[in-house]
Amino acid sequence: MAHHLIEIRPVPVPGWVLHWPMCTCGWEGDLVRTYPLAQDQVDEHLADHSPAQPTLFD
Ligand SMILES: [Zn+2]
Repeated sequence: MAHHLIEIRPVPVPGWVLHWPMCTCGWEGDLVRTYPLAQDQVDEHLADHSPAQPTLFD
C-alpha cells in the first residue's frame, strides 16, 4: 500500500510565491498561485487513490 505524504513547496518568483504540490508516490501537481489551489489538487490526488474510504482524520 503506497503512502501519500504530501508536500506543498513554496516556489518564489519575482513578486510572488507559487505553490507546488508533490507527493511521496511520485505525483507532482501543477504550479499554482495560491496555497488553496494547491490543496485542491492534493485533495483530488488523494481521492484518486483512496476509493470510497472514510477519512481517518478527526
Ligand atoms: Zn500520492
